[in-house]
Amino acid sequence: MPGFSIRIRRVDGPTLRMHCPRCGAEDVEAETREQRETFLLLHVLPLFWICNRFVACSACGRQFLSALPLEQLAEYPPDLVRDYLRPKAGFLGALLAGISASCWWFPALGVLFGLLAVLVNYGKGGWVRLLSWAGLLLSLLVTGGIVALVFFLGE
Ligand SMILES: [Zn+2]
Repeated sequence: MPGFSIRIRRVDGPTLRMHCPRCGAEDVEAETREQRETFLLLHVLPLFWICNRFVACSACGRQFLSALPLEQLAEYPPDLVRDYLRPKAGFLGALLAGISASCWWFPALGVLFGLLAVLVNYGKGGWVRLLSWAGLLLSLLVTGGIVALVFFLGE
């Protein structure tokens, strides 16, 4: 996209111990980091930013998103940590979010992809969820506007 850029800043968090929801490893070490992505207009003007907290299992390498600040999560016992982890969106979710965010202007089809993206990414976190919802809301506006216009002209 011309005129836009994304600035990414990563900060390593504390190492914690958890039970991994994916591979089932118990009391395993997990590396954490916080990643802030700022969307810049004309490469300097910050529009908005999102902040993701990643937790990576040292046994299987799978990454999760944390719903809690990492310092707080590190103080929790391993079995409780699991309750605050959400899976990172998969390839299909990311693909649908991308389609939804770029096809929202297409009547009806935009709503369909927006709904699919939101459904597939339900419970996931990060920019994928953000894009899915943005795509769905924009497509609802466009399609709703066209339906209203057709209805109005048909009167
Ligand atoms: Zn694991």
